[in-house]
Amino acid sequence: MGGVVIAGAGQAAVDTAAALRMGGFEGEITLIGDENVLPYSRPFLSKEFLSGKKAEAQIALRPQSFYDDNAVRLVLGQSVVSVDRPKQTVKLSEGEELRYTDLVLATGASTRQLPDPVLENASNVHYVRTLADAVPLRSELVAEARMCVIGGGYVGLEVAAVAREAGMSVTVIEAGPRLLARVAGVELAEFVTNLHRGAGVDVRLGMQAAAFRADGAGRAVEVTLANEDVLATDVVVVGIGIVPNAGLARDCGLEVADGVLVNEYCRTAEPHIYAVGDCTRHPCFERGGLRRLESISNASGQARVAASGILGQPAPYTSTPWFWSTQYKKTMRTVGLRNDSDKTIVRTRDGEFAAFYLAGDTIMAVDIVDSPRDFAAAKKLVAAKASRAPDVLADPDLPIPTLVE
Ligand SMILES: Cc1cc2nc3c(=O)[nH]c(=O)nc-3n(C[C@H](O)[C@H](O)[C@H](O)COP(=O)(O)OP(=O)(O)OC[C@H]3O[C@@H](n4cnc5c(N)ncnc54)[C@H](O)[C@@H]3O)c2cc1C
Repeated sequence: MGGVVIAGAGQAAVDTAAALRMGGFEGEITLIGDENVLPYSRPFLSKEFLSGKKAEAQIALRPQSFYDDNAVRLVLGQSVVSVDRPKQTVKLSEGEELRYTDLVLATGASTRQLPDPVLENASNVHYVRTLADAVPLRSELVAEARMCVIGGGYVGLEVAAVAREAGMSVTVIEAGPRLLARVAGVELAEFVTNLHRGAGVDVRLGMQAAAFRADGAGRAVEVTLANEDVLATDVVVVGIGIVPNAGLARDCGLEVADGVLVNEYCRTAEPHIYAVGDCTRHPCFERGGLRRLESISNASGQARVAASGILGQPAPYTSTPWFWSTQYKKTMRTVGLRNDSDKTIVRTRDGEFAAFYLAGDTIMAVDIVDSPRDFAAAKKLVAAKASRAPDVLADPDLPIPTLVE
């Protein structure tokens, strides 16, 4: 067997290498990552790493011994700069050329930037994608200091929660009419909004940050809102989404449309080039069409699919998408796609929360707050496309695991 080269060294890359070895792949595996640190788990950056509960060494995806024991060559601090498809080689930023039998693009995504000259130059304006982003942000979490979070998506809200717990005064500015519009249903968004407001966060919905002012030292000190309110601030965090890193694919002639296009086997149009994780746009097996997902479950699921293809046992990607977010002491988990639903059934009692998204009586998606047991049951219900009557789903006296046949 020949060698597999993996461009990127995040979740999808490391899981591809692990799945290849688990599947008995005996050829060379080389992982190339442009960040100069042992591959780590990104979700911690806006949660336990930011709050100081976990140190850098505790967020590594795998210990160094995993790479040594499994003969996975890790090239860190270098990027793959080009792909030569006819020659089946990649070129690294320090000039090395590597031949591949199969190439896996696992290049992830970058933060969407808010174009503004103050934001571009100020040292107290932070985006959160990499460890190098999170380290300086962590040092700005100081009790009594003021933080403005631009964007009410999961990453911004997680940062807001950690900052609030650190005793900061926090304002979240969201342009849309509600939080989490892209990723969560109305009911869960409302639950999260109440969580933040209950914790003392000033959540401004339907509001845009119109202008920023820096002081003489180049720090952003004021945010002017569209309604002309002026917020004095010590730290600005921008969380307005991500852009897939698809330049490498585009430059070597592969098709890119808001992500590297792959089929259900995570293969590009070139049979020996796969793409996995946040950088891909892939077929949605539930509804048809193409979609892009930004989650650990997708990165890991696609990694297994690409590995199975390389191992000569191709299996299509048919995992039901799921996601989690932790804010304060609550963990919100979502499984499935709510877009096709025509009604939502919510059950709440004593701080418990579950929302079922139905198309007819078929459960398309479920949100659960906190209970991993309920969530495990919810995953089964969605995967089985189970039908349950709305009054059954709404009844908090019927534990969710009892609804699974
Ligand atoms: C702060 C934060 C919190 C999150 N929380 C959650 C959560 O709670 N739950 C959840 O499910 N998901 C969460 N996510 C999303 C999740 O982390 C991503 O979906 C996942 O990391 C995607 O993995 P990936 O390997 O595709 O991409 P990435 O993790 O982005 O890894 C890609 C790597 O490739 C590198 N790279 C890019 N181009 C090149 C190149 N040309 N050469 C070499 N290296 C290159 C990048 O620098 C990066 O290191 C969170 C993300 C962030 C940023």
